[in-house]
Amino acid sequence: MAVPLLDLVAQYDEIREAVRAAVDEVLETQRCIGGPKVVECEKAVAAYSDCKYGIGASSGTDAILNALMSLGIGAGDEVITTPFSFFATAGCIVRTGARPVFVDIDPKTFNIDPLRVKGAVTDRTKAVLPVHLFGQVADMDPIMEAARARGLAVVEDAAQAIGATYKGRKAGSIGTAGCFSFFPSKNLGAVGDGGMIVTNDATLAEQCTVIRNHGAKPKYYHRYVGGNFRLDAIQAAVITVKLRYLEQWHEARRANAARYDERFAARETIVTPHVRQHNRMIYNQYVIRITDSGGGAGMRDRVVQHLKEKKIGHAIYYPVPLHLQECFADLGYQEGGLPESEAASREVLALPIYPELSQAQQDEVADAVLEAVGV
Ligand SMILES: *Cc1c(COP(=O)(O)O)cnc(C)c1O
Repeated sequence: MAVPLLDLVAQYDEIREAVRAAVDEVLETQRCIGGPKVVECEKAVAAYSDCKYGIGASSGTDAILNALMSLGIGAGDEVITTPFSFFATAGCIVRTGARPVFVDIDPKTFNIDPLRVKGAVTDRTKAVLPVHLFGQVADMDPIMEAARARGLAVVEDAAQAIGATYKGRKAGSIGTAGCFSFFPSKNLGAVGDGGMIVTNDATLAEQCTVIRNHGAKPKYYHRYVGGNFRLDAIQAAVITVKLRYLEQWHEARRANAARYDERFAARETIVTPHVRQHNRMIYNQYVIRITDSGGGAGMRDRVVQHLKEKKIGHAIYYPVPLHLQECFADLGYQEGGLPESEAASREVLALPIYPELSQAQQDEVADAVLEAVGV
């Protein structure tokens, strides 16, 4: 039995009526840019995230870019971030003209190591950009403490973590601003690209709404060079509908994760996700490590080969850490410089975890992984 990494058709089967009705409203009114659906979506996502303001964005990437631009980050500035993330995290920093300063990760959670953040602060540092990877919030208390001591902004890349919590606080609500992505594969996915900035800072929220309209205030009078960073009404309508199901989808993912954890328990070669006690993880991805211990070199890649043959969905997030990406060669990082991130790139493997995954499908995945590592 083939198992996909993600099955959005199965999800759509459950929400078809509601989604169609909401999209139809946009089509019938032709309020396609801005308008009531976008405002409703911004309010709903902000409320869900325990924030006062939500500012829709054209993508998660543009949410991050807008937040950094609105904080005034640019040439000559440094932003401390993790090298183990999707490209957008560092790409946005570079696009503002600032320099990304990569610090290594905590190998247990794959998130930025807060102890290393403090050590990376210089006179040029303007912000810290932690990523809540795979749906688990980074260790925010020491990050916030380091930032406060030096007057730095903290922008949470919460693209994979909407609804996750840290000591009871929602992802996106802890830093100066939080950024969500509604890319279809995220826990809350649109039918195209979309994203949102959330914040409790009224001044920053206002600046984000100006920057997302080419820096115009009022219209056609440009105080800044911004961009077209707007969320469109059809995406907003879909997101508002899907938000009602989000908690139930999170719980289904968490139940699936618990089942995998059980199947993979006590295998020397497989390291299951480590969730800190104070975290509620929402498993945007279920990522295991396949180590070489007991299996020999290249074990992860042999498992990948086996899953391919069995037509079982899987992915490697991420095969090359950001500090070693070709486009960042001029930053001067070398192989071996951030060893925990580099080891993670060699060992990680994401398995199907989507809410509609059946128990039979999940057993198929687990059996195949165990077969490949040699039970
Ligand atoms: C998905 C993602 C983004 C970018 O979101 P898009 O909506 O695809 O632009 C940024 N950071 C992380 C960690 C992501 O997973």
